[in-house]
Amino acid sequence: MKLGASYFGNRTLKHVRTDMEKMINDGCNSVVHTMSEHDITYHSQTMVDIVKVSREVGLEVFLDPWGIGRVFGGESFSTFVKLFPEARQKLSFAEGEINVNKACINSRAFREKMSQWVEHAASTGAEGVFWDEPHLFYGEFTELFAKTKIIWGCTCNTCKDIFKNCYGYEMPLEFTDQVMEFRQETILNFLEYLSDISSQKGLKNAVCVFPISEPKYGIYQWEKLVKLKNIDIFGSDPYWFAYKENVNDFVEKVSREVVRLCETHNKEPQIWIQGFRVPEGREEEVSTAIKTAFDSGVRNIAAWCFEGGACMTYISSDRPEIVWNKISKEYKTLQQQ
Ligand SMILES: [Zn+2]
Repeated sequence: MKLGASYFGNRTLKHVRTDMEKMINDGCNSVVHTMSEHDITYHSQTMVDIVKVSREVGLEVFLDPWGIGRVFGGESFSTFVKLFPEARQKLSFAEGEINVNKACINSRAFREKMSQWVEHAASTGAEGVFWDEPHLFYGEFTELFAKTKIIWGCTCNTCKDIFKNCYGYEMPLEFTDQVMEFRQETILNFLEYLSDISSQKGLKNAVCVFPISEPKYGIYQWEKLVKLKNIDIFGSDPYWFAYKENVNDFVEKVSREVVRLCETHNKEPQIWIQGFRVPEGREEEVSTAIKTAFDSGVRNIAAWCFEGGACMTYISSDRPEIVWNKISKEYKTLQQQ
């Protein structure tokens, strides 16, 4: 049984130690530490120390490329997109084109950046890496009195060349079936690249996809990702508050699908529980979500994030302490099973 939470917002080692000890006391045996562009630039040794402290107290450690290139989940800025403007994702539409502050995951410069990140992750002594919500730009734009337009990335020259090689014709502007397929293949190819290099360095690979398998989210045929050779842990994050869904139905539906695919391909299923932006009075739903994931066969449960998001205004729950207490209580109950 793996029970964990993500941790960020603090780089003072003595406080990290106190918090990691608290995580153990509160029923966790696993932690995902975020490791952003800021961290690898300014906290490189600190991250090594943070992983060491976490492992010393008895936690399994995964590292998360938090917001790197703005193509993974995470509340973190990217310097990469400023330093390598030509490696940003391009959006094209009839009126023109723009580059957005997200890296193109087909670009050589970004792959090089990620390979350095993996190198550093391996040097910390962490057990694994956690690829969280890798995605491409997708937006819907409605002009006055006009049809809604779908605007999607990436349409840069590198992506255009790859598209033409695959399909034998120029990449269209519309969000066609081939475009959906191409975007999915782009993310799969990126994750295969990342998981292969991490695996070579002895790191386990966990991946988390958005909980809705629709083309706009990038990967809509989850099985293709689960099947990748070096993906060890496959999961999703049915954040019912964020998607305005019913906790039972949503967590159960996503958990069962994740478990089904993992059983078929002999991978470990993981489910993330929404422990951030929990509205006042609805904290009990967090307990329900944990129980539901467990009852659906998931034995690797993680909460985003430690202490209900108290360290960050943007994602804090209304009453973070109550949220964390619920998580801790459920984890301790599950540990007995
Ligand atoms: Zn591109």
